[in-house]
Amino acid sequence: MASSDVVLPFFDTHAHLNLLPPEMPADEAYRKAREGGLAGLVNIGTRIASSRESIDLAARLPGVWATVGIHPSEASTLTSATREELALLAAAPRVVGIGETGIDRADFEETPLEVQAASLRAHIALARETDLPLILHCREAFEPLFALLDSERLSGRRGVFHCFTGSREEAFGALDRGFYLSFSGIVTFKNAASLREILPEIPEDRILLETDCPYLAPVPYRGKTNQPAYLPETLRVAAFARGEDPTAFSHQVLQNTRTFFAIDF
Ligand SMILES: [Zn+2]
Repeated sequence: MASSDVVLPFFDTHAHLNLLPPEMPADEAYRKAREGGLAGLVNIGTRIASSRESIDLAARLPGVWATVGIHPSEASTLTSATREELALLAAAPRVVGIGETGIDRADFEETPLEVQAASLRAHIALARETDLPLILHCREAFEPLFALLDSERLSGRRGVFHCFTGSREEAFGALDRGFYLSFSGIVTFKNAASLREILPEIPEDRILLETDCPYLAPVPYRGKTNQPAYLPETLRVAAFARGEDPTAFSHQVLQNTRTFFAIDF
């Protein structure tokens, strides 16, 4: 799909600017996206070091916020010391979420479910203490993840299933529990027709958009290093799948982003 000339305002709710390669440094990617209509972005922590880097980026670049968390694949690094460190980082300025945390079935061999679940519970406790929403990573693990979330009885601002790629049933499992769904460049992939079919059924006020850069570049950049400037491709495809005007859809998603993170931009 070719890009249209209309500039759509957009917000990247899940970026890892700190993981961009040397040929596309964070500041340059950020500047390029700003020129293309980026209203802001949230840089996501995946371990203690990248949580700290996210806070630094948020302090340095206007329109950038941060989350702090330990990715399920890194869950074995969670100790009482790192848990304490996370709590300190969560109190830093411009921290607007806890995670990414969750359950990743592809990683069970190296990081067993119990280890991932213990880390997720610690993140949930921290989200409660700070009254911040959870950034959830779920790979082929909706059943254990839903069960754990149910046992924790979350209330208030719950969280988002980032880079949602599940079934219709799984989408409503998350929505019925009060969560948001965030869609990545995967919605532009040729083999993601089932995801595009679900999109029109998602309530308009529960949708967020993300790049998950440097991963998952949307068509027509598929295979390249992803960056926030590519998000409008995802936005256009999602609007088209919903049969909505891209400009109206982009403003709705911006409003959802403000509500979800309780930020203004
Ligand atoms: Zn991520």
